[in-house]
Amino acid sequence: MRHNARTMYKVNFTPGPSQLYFTVHDHVKQAFKEDVPSCSHRSRQFEDIFQAATGNVRTLLNVPADWHIFFTGSATEIWERIGENLIDKKSFHFVNGSFSKRFHEIASQLNKEALQHEAAPGKPFDTSVAVPADTSLIALTHNETSTGVTTPLEFIHSFRTSHPNAIVAVDAVSSLPYPQFDYDKIDTVFFSVQKGFGLPAGLGVWLVNERCIGRSIAMQQSGVNIGTYHNLPTLKSFASKNQTPETPNVLAICLLAKVTDDMIRRGIHMVRKETEYKAAILYQALEANSLIKPFVDDPAIRSKTVIVADCGGHLEKVRTALVEHGLHPGEGYGPFKKQHLRFANFPTHSKEQFECLVDILEKIR
Ligand SMILES: *Cc1c(COP(=O)(O)O)cnc(C)c1O
Repeated sequence: MRHNARTMYKVNFTPGPSQLYFTVHDHVKQAFKEDVPSCSHRSRQFEDIFQAATGNVRTLLNVPADWHIFFTGSATEIWERIGENLIDKKSFHFVNGSFSKRFHEIASQLNKEALQHEAAPGKPFDTSVAVPADTSLIALTHNETSTGVTTPLEFIHSFRTSHPNAIVAVDAVSSLPYPQFDYDKIDTVFFSVQKGFGLPAGLGVWLVNERCIGRSIAMQQSGVNIGTYHNLPTLKSFASKNQTPETPNVLAICLLAKVTDDMIRRGIHMVRKETEYKAAILYQALEANSLIKPFVDDPAIRSKTVIVADCGGHLEKVRTALVEHGLHPGEGYGPFKKQHLRFANFPTHSKEQFECLVDILEKIR
């Protein structure tokens, strides 16, 4: 199975959508054979698919039994739903790139008092920054996809003690399934499927604890508009029947069930070890090269799942050499388009593909 991906003409290292997980083609065929795309979302067949998908996500990511797993259209939708359902007044956002910035912006657009602390691109946060004690939600982005900066887990986990009343919300869209969160120290975490899970785009996965449900109900009772079909109480009531409020993307939920099952069989420990190995050899190759370097200087905040190369004036030379070998890097994000290349390091990217990438980079001088 794996060698298919290796001999494939094109390997997509863009961070999203990324290369499909190598089993997806077969799962799509099977799903069509079983008429999954036309199955009713109120049928037993769908309830089984819903249960398999949420059960596998729970097992793979080690999610506690009392947490809820809900489906949305995208992670962007979840940013908005978090604003509506969980920020009663004030939120505080750690911003270090385009994605964390958008999370903050959406909270502002919803008329929340959204405060922020911003770090320069590629640089760490000032960890001594004062987050007001009456903040109702603290928003953190585990992996800033635009610049390849990770927010260390110790920092994410520190707010439970310092701000016990705040909801701790974590965007882990471009890092899961790699990180192992301490679910006692956060309240909600979310992802969309076209990054680390290697699936076609169009599905968001939202994990919340009971504190989040309680907060949204309290907000609703105090007269706040928490949204209509995808608010937390409604999502919970349908999920308790293994259903969704609307007609969902059944095929996407089915493919998520299949791919998470594949990852469980491979072993999350193996997935994590391989992620670390691939990241290590790529960073090493970038550091050894005289024309390019890692964009993020500080190894403590270098992302393992989206690795950004600063190519200076050599971007075209590097890109051409890679594309000639069928290896397609992602473009730099926004203002870094002419200077950066981004490499997704997701479970579908094999060790062999990374070794090949590193070999080519070593020859570029
Ligand atoms: C891609 C991405 C999003 C948005 O995901 P969509 O599925 O496009 O809504 C949010 N946060 C981060 C960190 C991302 O990388």
